[in-house]
Amino acid sequence: MPPESLRAAVALGLVLCAGVGCKQKPADTQARPAAQQVEKSAELPKPLVQTVLTSEERQTLTPDRIVRGLREGNERFVSGTLTVRDHSAQVRASVGSQFPKAAFLSCLDSRIPIEDVFDRGIGDVFVARVAGNFENTDILGSLEFATKVAGAKVILVLGHGDCGAIKAALDGVELGNITPMLSNIQPAVAHFAEYAGEKSSNNTEFLKMVTEQNVRMTMSDIRSRSPIIQELADAGEVRIIGGVYYMDSGRVHFIE
Ligand SMILES: [Zn+2]
Repeated sequence: MPPESLRAAVALGLVLCAGVGCKQKPADTQARPAAQQVEKSAELPKPLVQTVLTSEERQTLTPDRIVRGLREGNERFVSGTLTVRDHSAQVRASVGSQFPKAAFLSCLDSRIPIEDVFDRGIGDVFVARVAGNFENTDILGSLEFATKVAGAKVILVLGHGDCGAIKAALDGVELGNITPMLSNIQPAVAHFAEYAGEKSSNNTEFLKMVTEQNVRMTMSDIRSRSPIIQELADAGEVRIIGGVYYMDSGRVHFIE
């Protein structure tokens, strides 16, 4: 058979298949270099995570290890390599108990999918949200439940860039119940009373300063307004950290 005809015959799977019972290999594995086949197997989907955090697993985790895990989870979010989870299986696995490792206090903003941002799944974290991520009695009670009662070992206060609540506080917005809500952010604005620049949302530098200060003040206020959490923090059983999420990158800048 001339070389051209031979190549055509191979392509058609005819060579050596003239006899009865000849099994042709699947087309996608024929004559494929070994390196390509290895590459192909590396592309196979990872097994789905079907389990949830157990009490025993959480007992082995220190607050520092949990914080490190949150940092690593955010790196995976930024790089687009989130853990693949079987949420239906996790729902079934978490019926009847929960052992979250951390509690978040985040802004309300729809562009911050908390669990995804830190690559966490069902049963991993408590999440309290309020526009401007400040604490009040209800939030403090929730965080005390999350830590003292339910055993979470990290509290993370999460602000974010381009926050509408911080902008509204800077611009003195008044509307319904939004007015008293924004008063919770004003201490962070007042912190920069000596600031010489423009104190409005138009000033991105000032907006960033107040956003970070608001996170720091919330972290501090959680301690000072909750003797229960302060005691846990002093004993090293709970760690309070902060962060600011930036939407252009998905990255969290941690404040410790
Ligand atoms: Zn916000």
